[in-house]
Amino acid sequence: MSSVNVQIEDMLEDKYGIRMNEQPQCFIGYDSAGNWYNPIRYQNLLQMAVDIAIISAQNGAGPFGAIVAESTTRIFSYGYNKVISINDSTQHAEIVAIREAQSLEHSHTLQLGSRSVNLYCSCRPCIQCMGAVWWSGIKDVYYYNVQEQPQRLGFDEGPQNETFWEILKESFKIQKQTHLFAEEDESGYAKIPFEIYEKLNGRLY
Ligand SMILES: [Zn+2]
Repeated sequence: MSSVNVQIEDMLEDKYGIRMNEQPQCFIGYDSAGNWYNPIRYQNLLQMAVDIAIISAQNGAGPFGAIVAESTTRIFSYGYNKVISINDSTQHAEIVAIREAQSLEHSHTLQLGSRSVNLYCSCRPCIQCMGAVWWSGIKDVYYYNVQEQPQRLGFDEGPQNETFWEILKESFKIQKQTHLFAEEDESGYAKIPFEIYEKLNGRLY
């Protein structure tokens, strides 16, 4: 496991009280008495995605984080941006998290019977990641509405025309019954990964 993964998993345990369980392989939580609990009910998964993005940015990796979680029960996986670290333009946080979840499930799709598996992103996904969502079996996508932040720094975020995004949202809704939910960043928390990346003069791509 890379040192970034170690830092992220330490943060998930220290801040959220969750850690990877072996059977089944997913993140579970423990209360102070050592009793298992279902972390989904207690956690803000979007905030968790931002915390992953913060650690990624602190390590010079892209300031993006993502979580794949079943809607009511399990956190399967997380991802941070590895484009620079492994020289692979496809390694966005969302793709990393989706691949990990499918690998853990030994399935090419996250459409698991009647269960809904969702994607939680620190920022609006790009068109590559929305393409991956299309075929991944992800049910719904939640993200912080801070796409102006990577654009402000100079990241190439691909097509960001709002009309284009409205058409994309409509296509997902009609053809996949997938909804895209944008959360406003009222506290300013979702901006922090970008501010860290900017301060550290992170590479743009
Ligand atoms: Zn992407």
